[in-house]
Amino acid sequence: MDANTPQLVPRPVYDDSATFRMAVKQLETVAEIIQLDPNIFERLKTPKRALIVAVPIRMDDGRTHQFIGYRVQHSLTSGPSKGGLRYHPSVDLGEVAALAMWMSWKCAIMNLPFGGAKGGIACDPDKMSMGEKERLTRRFTEEIFPILGPRMDVPAPDLGTDEQTMAWIMDTYSMSVGYACPEIVTGKPIELGGCIGRKEATGRGVVYCIMQALHELNIAPANATAVVQGFGNVGSVTCTELALRGVKTIAVSDRYGAIANPAGIDIAALNQHVNSGKMVKDFPGASPTDPNEILTLPCTICVPAALERQITADNAGKLQCRILAEAANGPTTPEADIILNRSDIFIIPDVLCNAGGVTVSYFEWVQDMQQFFWDEAQVNQKLEQLMLKAFHQVRSLAKEKRIPMRMAALSLGVQKVALEKRRRGLYP
Ligand code: NAD
Repeated sequence: MDANTPQLVPRPVYDDSATFRMAVKQLETVAEIIQLDPNIFERLKTPKRALIVAVPIRMDDGRTHQFIGYRVQHSLTSGPSKGGLRYHPSVDLGEVAALAMWMSWKCAIMNLPFGGAKGGIACDPDKMSMGEKERLTRRFTEEIFPILGPRMDVPAPDLGTDEQTMAWIMDTYSMSVGYACPEIVTGKPIELGGCIGRKEATGRGVVYCIMQALHELNIAPANATAVVQGFGNVGSVTCTELALRGVKTIAVSDRYGAIANPAGIDIAALNQHVNSGKMVKDFPGASPTDPNEILTLPCTICVPAALERQITADNAGKLQCRILAEAANGPTTPEADIILNRSDIFIIPDVLCNAGGVTVSYFEWVQDMQQFFWDEAQVNQKLEQLMLKAFHQVRSLAKEKRIPMRMAALSLGVQKVALEKRRRGLYP
């Protein structure tokens, strides 16, 4: 190209999203810390590929409604890409791309043979019937079929999706290829080749990390209190596992409201209440409280377990916890991080804290490929072993380099993917 040829600058299609810009900002900071080769940085800052699909379905009232769905694969360097599928009204390309990038680092920190991916459909599953959700899931699966496969990309549940969603994907994919293919998704029902303990894995992993942090801070679990934002899969299991270890949960919120009880919420009773179809805010064993202030209540352990970008420059300075356990993906913005890093809050960053889910997803994929199944004790023991190993690796690096836990975790993850890219070389 001669010097007068205008350089075409591709439009950064992901950059409209604050969440994607946040993921790239984190990558830039880590790149500096680990002195990442700029050529590798160039390849890591943009997802490998993204598919945007229109998903028309017939609604129960006879109308046809067209939803927009996304599947983004950030990296395919380390193996098939792996990541959840999210059903939420605010889903967009940039959010999904950021979540896919975080999945790459998470899989690398846990030393799993996967790259990162994520998917999502902009919809409100709370307002859809089972039939509508089934048609949406099946049509979406068909639409992303060209980039799906047990050796290419393996979805899992995330916000707004569950075991049933995974069962529909498994069935749709299996019907298309002509044989039962359980290894196409993880987080399936046990009867379809799901892994015992997968449903609880993310919350359990969160609590394994919290226990290590409490130990390091010399706080007895019986003297600790927790506040949890989000009472879905991850939030409810986190509360249950904390209760088993004697930690009192004093406040809980979900999309519709928040409740508090300084004496401790009866988590078994709250689970029963929610499982019977009632709202968290209507639980009789606690009083209503302001959902916007839940994260800033005084407590030992603060657990955001809902959406990203919940701890921002506006509320970071008001946090009154000793431990921030990031069960959600991306709950803390880089601006909030600067404020938190000046405090003595022990941060367990998302890419480590919630990695239990993808770890047991890996166990599920391995079992499905081999058609050889493990028992619950094996799953939980192996999960705890891998979580603790990762926790201690991150902790040691943070202490050795005097860097925040988030930067230590991301350094380990990014470095592993970068090394694999360097070893494989640049094709052709
Ligand atoms: P879920 O759909 O089961 O539950 C989400 C919960 O968050 C619900 O209680 C919902 O009411 C609540 N919520 C939604 N919007 C809210 C708001 N504005 N304020 C307060 N609460 C709100 O989803 P989940 O699987 O528990 O996922 C929760 C988080 O954990 C997400 O960030 C997800 O990416 C992350 N995560 C999940 C897994 C997994 O295995 N499911 C693994 C890793 C990370």
